[in-house]
Parts: sequence; C-alpha cells; structure tokens
Amino acid sequence: MRTATERRDLLRAVFDEARNCTRCPLHHTRTTVVFGAGNANADLMFIGEAPGANEDRMGLPFVGQAGKLLDKLLAEIAMDRKDVFICNTLKCRPPDNRDPHPNEIEACQDYLRRQVDLIEPIVICTLGNFSTKLLRADTAGISRLHGREEVRVIGTRAVRLYPLYHPAAALYTPSTLAALRADFHRIPDLLALGPPPQPAAVDDPGSAIEEPIPEIPEIDEPLEDLREPESAAGVPEPAAQLGLF
Ligand code: URA
Repeated sequence: MRTATERRDLLRAVFDEARNCTRCPLHHTRTTVVFGAGNANADLMFIGEAPGANEDRMGLPFVGQAGKLLDKLLAEIAMDRKDVFICNTLKCRPPDNRDPHPNEIEACQDYLRRQVDLIEPIVICTLGNFSTKLLRADTAGISRLHGREEVRVIGTRAVRLYPLYHPAAALYTPSTLAALRADFHRIPDLLALGPPPQPAAVDDPGSAIEEPIPEIPEIDEPLEDLREPESAAGVPEPAAQLGLF
C-alpha cells in the first residue's frame, strides 16, 4: 500500500516522462502536454477526450466552458477539483480540435493506464465516447451507456467505470445536460460502495489474471466537436506545470 506522498511522487515521475513525449505526431503541433490535474490520491477520476486550444496553452485540463460546467456539477455533489483527478484520453491537442486518431490513442494509452494504476480510483467517470470506448474496449456509444456503472479491470486495477456524457455536449443541449446532471448526482452513492474486489496480484503465481491489452476500438459514430475554439477570453495565464497535483 503506497503512502499519499509516494503516490504523488510516482505520478510526478510519469508526468516528467510525458511532458517530453514524442510517441505520436501530435508532439509537433502541441504547445504543452496536458497530463492531468487534481488530487493524486483521489477516489474519483474523470477522463475526457483531448485538450483544446486553451488547455494546450495552459497545460491544464478542462479550463473552458465545459470545465466550468464540470466544476458546477462537482459543487452540486459537494466536491471540487482538489478532491478529484481530471485528465484526458490524449495528453496533447489534436490540431484544429479534430477527433483523436487511433494511432494517437494507441500511443497515449500507456500514460492513462499508469495514471489509473497509481491513483487507484474507486470510480472512473469517462466523459464522452473516446474514453468510454477506450476503457471498455468496445464500440458501444455514450448515449447507450451513460449512467450505467460496471466493474472493469483497467491495467491492474478493478474500478467502478461510470460513463457520462461529455460536459461540452451538454452545454447547448438541455436534455443532455439533464441526463448528465442526473447521472452525476449518483456519483456519491457509487463512491460510498468503496473499491470493487481487486484481481489477484500479478506476482502471486497461480492466481494471476491475464489482462490482455484491449484493441483500440474504431470510433464509428460521428462525434460532437467537444473542444472549444481558440479563444483566450477569460482564460487565466498558463499555470506552473509543477503545481498540478
Ligand atoms: N474537452 C476535453 O475532452 N478535455 C479538455 O481538457 C477540454 C475539453
């Protein structure tokens, strides 16, 4: 069992590796690697799609309107960003906010799995289609899956996976916002269940569960453009990268 400090230091080491990442072509066009931010000891983790223009500039996830909605919903369940860890499927911004490409998701997924392994969340909320499809290794979409929790093994950890609509998709569609809000309000009950039973330790011979690395599913449905257009309006200056968690 790791201490909070050990966990934070290990996460910092992964961040140090990721911040110079050249595993996919997005390193040519990004400004900053958006590793994630929040509490390295969080029980609750949110995983979005990819940084947009403001996130790319600031090095922080969800700093625009979608992030403000996320903050509001967190407040409604008496939580805030320091209680949770927020990151994305891709750590670098795709140019012009285009959808992530399969090779980028493939190259980046190791960081996400290490984040989950180190943070050891009880509940992971996938926000929208990309993170949901990746972590479930399945093409079922968010409109069918939102609000349906299930226990899944991610890397070495069993977690309560809880797909939610992406907040950006809820910004201009009242029915999506209502569904997101209703689903969001169930998060405290899921957290109260505690961690699901964990798979046997891999170093326990004879009882190890072989967890194959899932195939990256093809994203087969059109997706809303979830990231915000380039606009610095109202967005604070870039944060010091080392104050992330
Ligand atoms: N949308 C995302 O998926 N992630 C961000 O960080 C911002 C907008």
